[in-house]
Amino acid sequence: MTQLVCPVDQTNLVLSKTAGQASSNCPECHGVWLTLDTLETLEDKAANADMVKGQRQYGKHEVLHDCPHCGENMIRFRYRGYNLEIESCPTDAGFWLDKSEEREIRDVMKKRASNLARASSAEQSWNNARRGVKISLFQRIKHFLGIS
Ligand SMILES: [Zn+2]
Ligand SMILES: [Zn+2]
Repeated sequence: MTQLVCPVDQTNLVLSKTAGQASSNCPECHGVWLTLDTLETLEDKAANADMVKGQRQYGKHEVLHDCPHCGENMIRFRYRGYNLEIESCPTDAGFWLDKSEEREIRDVMKKRASNLARASSAEQSWNNARRGVKISLFQRIKHFLGIS
């Protein structure tokens, strides 16, 4: 594997882990390079397919950072329309997050995952409530028939 260098300060990146996934981190500015596979794995873990599908990149523009993967100028964009800008390889081989962005993207994923969890637990209690109505109606009928 070739040595990856930081797109911001050209320091050699070191292999590390981000949220349990392999990543390359800059010891100087603490930025993180995630491959497309890794980003998708993190998204899969954070939420369901609902979040993973749909456009990832909004407001794309080129920046004067050399991609650790191919050396081309990186593309800066808004991650999934959130107020969070990260950079990617022009061929989407990987993504660069600076120190605060690395934390923010996990917050965004967590928030999104907990919204989905809340939506599904709301649905769950609605289902339980409906089931409850059915049970009590059934019990009332049984009572009415004198079999409860
Ligand atoms: Zn750096
Ligand atoms: Zn590249």
